[in-house]
Amino acid sequence: MSTTMIAMGAAGAIVGGLVAGLGALNFLIGAVETLFGKPKFIFLRSTKETSFAFAFHWNSAKEPAKMNRVRLKLFNPFGKPTVVEFSKDFDSFDESFAYEVDFGQAFKNFTDTEGFNKSTVEVEISSEKDGVNFQFEFKGPVFKDNFLKAKDYVEGYKKKSGMEDSSPSKSPINIPLRSFIADTVPGKGAQVAIPTNPVFAAYFQGDAGEASAGASAGAQENFAVSKVWIEPGCIVCNACEDIYPEVFDVQADTCLIRPGAPLDDGLKIQEAAEACPVEVIKFTKVG
Ligand code: SF4
Repeated sequence: MSTTMIAMGAAGAIVGGLVAGLGALNFLIGAVETLFGKPKFIFLRSTKETSFAFAFHWNSAKEPAKMNRVRLKLFNPFGKPTVVEFSKDFDSFDESFAYEVDFGQAFKNFTDTEGFNKSTVEVEISSEKDGVNFQFEFKGPVFKDNFLKAKDYVEGYKKKSGMEDSSPSKSPINIPLRSFIADTVPGKGAQVAIPTNPVFAAYFQGDAGEASAGASAGAQENFAVSKVWIEPGCIVCNACEDIYPEVFDVQADTCLIRPGAPLDDGLKIQEAAEACPVEVIKFTKVG
């Protein structure tokens, strides 16, 4: 056998080995993906125009977490408002699930936002307790298209994908659904003390419990306001009216200040202003 033939044989063996190696590697990657899978977000059909239905799959064996929050964020540089963000908590799921969250009128306003088609939407599914979150980004039109064209309802999808038994694990304490008001105030790192947030329950009941002590640590003296008003951009989320219904009157497309609204509880008005996700509540203090 000539030297050339021996060299060709050796090269062939190397190439063959490489091909076999790559095949094995592909198989391995496939197996790993099958085993661990990438987190997957699926749009489902909502039963109401104010709600958002979806399914979320993740590898709960690899990344154990109790998922209990969905957050939507709109980056809208060419429209108004330029940023819209809201979230809602639900009883937690510790494995892949399908769910429908009713955000109320705010969700409808969200998809109707001026400039939506040039925006980017971020959907975040997270576990408040475990500090785990997954984010998915969509161009505005893609988000709308997927949302409007989704075929499966939550129940149908659960059946189809073998999730019939998936139901949220009940929290040992009853945590009410919250939107807009549970997160820390953007840029301020402070949590808004609101009566519906159980963390502050004792504070609002005037108990001298732990929560009261914590919440009132930076207690501010109350003050009166001379004027309170709403600037353009309200997304009618209801947060302000939930906090101070004697002052804020949320209508179909904006929020109004009630005629003759009491202006002597400035702290409560300030709390509503801080809870406003688009920061359109303004006021001036007396003096
Ligand atoms: S003004 Fe009230 S209803 Fe409007 S966005 Fe702010 S908190 Fe929501």
